[in-house]
Amino acid sequence: MSGNHFPGGCLCGAVRVRVYGPPETVPYCHCRDCRRWTGAPATAFAGYPEDRIEFTRGKPAVYGSSPGIRRSFCGDCGTSLTYEDERLAGEIYVSIGVFDDPGVFRPEGHSWNSQRLGWFDVVDDLPRYEKSSRPR
Ligand SMILES: [Zn+2]
Ligand SMILES: [Zn+2]
Repeated sequence: MSGNHFPGGCLCGAVRVRVYGPPETVPYCHCRDCRRWTGAPATAFAGYPEDRIEFTRGKPAVYGSSPGIRRSFCGDCGTSLTYEDERLAGEIYVSIGVFDDPGVFRPEGHSWNSQRLGWFDVVDDLPRYEKSSRPR
């Protein structure tokens, strides 16, 4: 691992994470499951190959929200940390809100636009996908 790295962590600090280099993809997700998982109207992720992410403190708890889907979170404070889908093997999606400087990750598109809240309109020209931006 070399070059830039971006640190982040949960609200209470029990879990710290670090990613290396630029993300492969940065999607917003408007799906219902992410909405419940985060408690926010929409979320955004930085997608990384699993060999460019490491937990530098603590270990997240994991919840299997549906078959093949693993969502990790801080077992102490509940912060939503990472999303993994076994159909996208080797990829880990980190909630960009956990990074110390989330502003460096620029979203590239809107996944699950079909489940976007009607009042949550966005003023951008990014592509909008009815389902995931990453076909399984
Ligand atoms: Zn925590
Ligand atoms: Zn989602």
